[in-house]
Amino acid sequence: VTRVDEAYAQLVAALRLQADLGGVLQLLEWDQETLMPAGAIEGRARQIGTLAGLLHERQTAPAFLAVVDGLADSGAELNPQQAVDVRETKWRVDRRRRLDTALVRERSTLHAQARAVWVAARRDNDFAILAPWLGRVVETERRAAAAMDASRPAYDVLLEEYEPGASAALIEPLFADLRHGLLPLVDRIKARLDAGPLDANALCGDFPVEAQRRFNQAVAVRLGFDFNKGRLDEAAHPFTTNVGDDVRITTRYDARDLRYALYATLHETGHALYEQGLDAEAWGTPRGQSCSFGIHESQSRLWENQVGRSMAFWKHLLPAARQAFPGLARTSLESIVVAANEARPSLIRTEADEITYNLHIILRFELERALVDGSLDVAALPQVWREKMGEYLGVIPETDRDGVLQDVHWPSGAIGYFPSYALGNMYAAQLDCAAEADMGSVEAAVAAGEFRLLLSWLRQHVHRLGQTYRPVELIRVATGQLPTSRPLLDHLERRVTFLESL
Ligand code: ZN
Repeated sequence: VTRVDEAYAQLVAALRLQADLGGVLQLLEWDQETLMPAGAIEGRARQIGTLAGLLHERQTAPAFLAVVDGLADSGAELNPQQAVDVRETKWRVDRRRRLDTALVRERSTLHAQARAVWVAARRDNDFAILAPWLGRVVETERRAAAAMDASRPAYDVLLEEYEPGASAALIEPLFADLRHGLLPLVDRIKARLDAGPLDANALCGDFPVEAQRRFNQAVAVRLGFDFNKGRLDEAAHPFTTNVGDDVRITTRYDARDLRYALYATLHETGHALYEQGLDAEAWGTPRGQSCSFGIHESQSRLWENQVGRSMAFWKHLLPAARQAFPGLARTSLESIVVAANEARPSLIRTEADEITYNLHIILRFELERALVDGSLDVAALPQVWREKMGEYLGVIPETDRDGVLQDVHWPSGAIGYFPSYALGNMYAAQLDCAAEADMGSVEAAVAAGEFRLLLSWLRQHVHRLGQTYRPVELIRVATGQLPTSRPLLDHLERRVTFLESL
């Protein structure tokens, strides 16, 4: 055993201990969002704080940092797998240690306070009470970015928290192309709706929640979700948690609309399939962890949109759906696909359809970038928001609650997060095309219920690789192309053409 192998073994042991602490934290948070009685919040907050402190101590322990630095200096002696783990660990560790403890504490306190103010501001439709807090968040994030890397634009440093290796210079032309291609599609949707109403009610009616629970569970199983190492529960805002050896997803039900739960379940199942497909041999190390927020979102979107809204998917699922919900006995396949693809410009991002959704993200990217570089004042946000909504979607919010106050991200300090949603949509379309080129018709496999084919392609080209490549490189290796908006625009154009054909 060489000196390097010994040090690497120490690194893995330390990372695994940190991963266990992280898994316990995840479990506490999962419980808080699903089953915990309301009165337990104080003790739970304390437990989470205690554990987070322990984890932070481990992550910044001098002995651990010395192992990481020593390995980073051994460059050429590392084998390729070791090199990945050292590269990614060193990168995270360096970002973390350049933030002094006072700033870390200031940041997390500020985010918690601003988030609480946001709840009140949104409830009372009062942007003015949030504005000074948002100003402080932006200023603090700028300082954090400067501490992590003063040589680069602050926005890029913040963005990399979610999308390592990305930059505004990379994203801007991608989003410009996307916006340019989306605006005519939005016009076509408007023209289609002006020409006559879209009958998109096929999945509305009477769907008892108990039957929906069984149905959603069965759908997740069909896609490949492993319930021996996972759970499906309920939460107000659906999410996916990786506890360590099991992955937990949540959804929420509406007894009058089957889509509400089903598309949340498909989305979270996509996230979960990624987590369940990570290389178990590499657990706790970067090679055994997801690549980025954008790549994660590509997995959820691919199953939710490319698969779940297709005619092929419903061809396969309709018999089971009719069995679960006898009310669908006379509902046609085509009318269900229309319901699954209902689209119209709207105000709220989380309720937006597949086609208009990306414009909500582009708007947020433009605004948050301008906030960070100082070219936009917090006070001007509501007005600029309305202008851009008018320009991109042709709808203008009457209240800030339906406008700039709708998302929790900025008050929570998550600046640089939004782009990962649209990047995820682009990556999903690129991966779908690449899978199609490799395995023949994805559509035919989906119509036959052969989801394993697509899943094993994703396992091989995305899941198993963990952080072997950074997101842009992962997409290039998996699809043969750098990130591009073309496959997504082609996909969305087919959706619009379908709606026009009715
Ligand atoms: Zn997601």
